[in-house]
Amino acid sequence: MSMSIVAELCTACGDCEPLCPTGAIHAHKGVYAIKDSLCTECEDYDYPQCEDVCEVDDCIVPLDS
Ligand code: SF4
Ligand code: SF4
Repeated sequence: MSMSIVAELCTACGDCEPLCPTGAIHAHKGVYAIKDSLCTECEDYDYPQCEDVCEVDDCIVPLDS
């Protein structure tokens, strides 16, 4: 399972990148994305850290939603 960034909603603020415990979030050509093979959905936390910090509603969602 993995979270995913909705590219059309992402403002590329970069706030989520340093909070990811697995280094799954990267910027590429100004667009932020989550590498699904690295994302654990923050299994060691109570909730996904990236989703918690992101100020854009529904910008970070489960990959298959
Ligand atoms: S859910 Fe957690 S592991 Fe997955 S991208 Fe967000 S911060 Fe990283
Ligand atoms: S915190 Fe949200 S808006 Fe900012 S880069 Fe991450 S996904 Fe995009």
